[in-house]
Amino acid sequence: MKTINNVVCSFCGCLCDDIEVNIENNKIVNVKNACSLGLSKFLNYNKHRILKPRIRKSKEFVNVSLEEAINECVKILSNANYPIIYGWSNTSNEALRVGIEIAELIGGVIDNTTSVCHGPTIIGVQDIGESTSTLGQIKNRADLIIYWGSNPLHAHPRHLSRYTALSKGRFIKTRKERKVVVVDVRKTATANIADVFIQIKPNSDYELLTALRYAVNNGEIEQDEVAGVPVEKIEELAEMMVSCKFGALMFGLGLTMSPGKHRNIEAAIALVTDLNKYTKFVILPMRGHYNVTGANNVTCWITGYPFAVDFSKGYPYYNPGETTIADIIARGECDAALIVASDPISHLPIESARKLSKIPIVTIDPHETPTTRVSRVVIPSSYVGIECEGTAYRMDGVPLRLKKIVDPPDGIISDEEILKMILSKLKGD
Ligand code: SF4
Repeated sequence: MKTINNVVCSFCGCLCDDIEVNIENNKIVNVKNACSLGLSKFLNYNKHRILKPRIRKSKEFVNVSLEEAINECVKILSNANYPIIYGWSNTSNEALRVGIEIAELIGGVIDNTTSVCHGPTIIGVQDIGESTSTLGQIKNRADLIIYWGSNPLHAHPRHLSRYTALSKGRFIKTRKERKVVVVDVRKTATANIADVFIQIKPNSDYELLTALRYAVNNGEIEQDEVAGVPVEKIEELAEMMVSCKFGALMFGLGLTMSPGKHRNIEAAIALVTDLNKYTKFVILPMRGHYNVTGANNVTCWITGYPFAVDFSKGYPYYNPGETTIADIIARGECDAALIVASDPISHLPIESARKLSKIPIVTIDPHETPTTRVSRVVIPSSYVGIECEGTAYRMDGVPLRLKKIVDPPDGIISDEEILKMILSKLKGD
């Protein structure tokens, strides 16, 4: 039996890099340090695998060679007038680099899952900037942790023990030295272990953030309550924020996807900016898929924009709401799709999913999904961080190298290699 240490878990944006994996006969037989989500990925990644490339011929799927699948993909992309290329949050930065080159070459739109999750966060940050930090700084120094619209005990189970409330930092060593506040519409598992839980009326985050800004700046709120929260509680939270030594506000989709969207994020960032007049305060989004932060970073360093980049004019053009794929599909404008490591048929709005299923789709994915089932071409790939290497960005923007710990099934290669073959054929090499 072989033991591999310091494996990075490629499940959620925490990218825990202390996983110990035991391998026997090219099989993962034991995993230490992972949470239940990470453990399940390491032990079950091989279920529902696609092991052969396939093409839909007269409504039925037929297994084909990799070369035939690549040729069909190239034919679909070359014949399209306005193709979309989508996914990327569950693959490596290296794969995405090739994907962006393909999008530019074919004059398509490249978008990542940010456009249906933390897109408003990115827009808010672009509008007014942000005071941020690494998770390491939060672990070592933060004495006030606020989770807003986020339930990390369920979505990022080791976030608290590795980086925040339950972690042992260099300067802040115990749970008693940190205060934890949860702001949410319901009492979540994380709220149960918080020192203060603030239950907010659904869809009124902007109001509460604005009231907090007012209180932090010594304003007197002339109401009994705001957003369902009594004014005394708002003032108490404002006082906790102002008087901490290092505060961290971490927010999830409960803030980005409630009405107000990027305005909510702007209000949260403005609150953190105000707090920096009095103390040290940072803000961080809780990113879900393990490399959605990488998808934004890589797209940004290559094109200048973090998602929804349209190359159809011959140069990168970005206008969320216009160039985001859910909108392009809803308007019926795209005529082919290349999907990499994502399942848009499951997560797009139903109308967009229905329209997407009507155009030729090429999907590169290790396992069966509703998207592979409606695709014209399916090319199986290996799992980054298990069967092949790659780089990913943790939710705080720290890049980590993911290891290969077992061999992929025969004939299965990485997303990056598949995309390089597609690019090379498109270029006519
Ligand atoms: S918290 Fe996330 S990255 Fe860490 S072990 Fe769990 S699923 Fe994996």
